[in-house]
Amino acid sequence: MQEKGLLIVLSGPSGVGKGTVRKEIFSQPDTAFEYSVSATTRKPREGEVDGVDYFFKTREQFEEMIENDQLLEYAEYVGNYYGTPVEYVQQTLDAGKDVFLEIEVQGAGQVRRKFPEGLFIFLAPPSLSELENRIVTRGTETEDLIKGRMKAAREELEMMELYDYVVENDKVELACERVKAIVVAEHCRRERVQYRYKKMLEVD
Ligand code: 5GP
Repeated sequence: MQEKGLLIVLSGPSGVGKGTVRKEIFSQPDTAFEYSVSATTRKPREGEVDGVDYFFKTREQFEEMIENDQLLEYAEYVGNYYGTPVEYVQQTLDAGKDVFLEIEVQGAGQVRRKFPEGLFIFLAPPSLSELENRIVTRGTETEDLIKGRMKAAREELEMMELYDYVVENDKVELACERVKAIVVAEHCRRERVQYRYKKMLEVD
């Protein structure tokens, strides 16, 4: 029987740098897990490519995906839908490959309920003021939007409890190393590997 891949979920407050950490992880040639491209109703930003950064959808298309049960999870975030197409995740895990999701916290909560055996990693900011700083210096958002995001971030920080690991994003390279080390460790977890040794002993 094909051993299933690991479902890795990286989440955390908005502005904490999830996207940056994810991009850094996938720019490294030794990264052995597959990125699950999300669907969204938000408009593409400059340079974003459909099918690579996101599957860009209209609200109608997205709502159809919800109705047809095509999403593993979805959430409405700052006025737009974001969701994870379930088919790709299922097929990739069944093929024995690890799948990596980078999603906001409401969606991560839904995945936790459906896939309790997943690996849930919370990306944490070094401090709240640092978080505010990062959101403001991003410079692309209005004052109201920034306030909204900060309020959400405070609430989201309290959701750390639902995760298996916490990685501080003090430096992107360090955060990436920690995430990858956690994945390696998870593959060595006794519950995951013990059956192989049991099988070996049965052969004798
Ligand atoms: P952005 O618009 O900056 O690309 O993403 C906004 C937020 O949506 C980020 O926190 C990102 O992690 C989250 N996000 C991206 N894809 C998904 C998804 O498929 N599901 C959920 N729940 N959140 C997502």
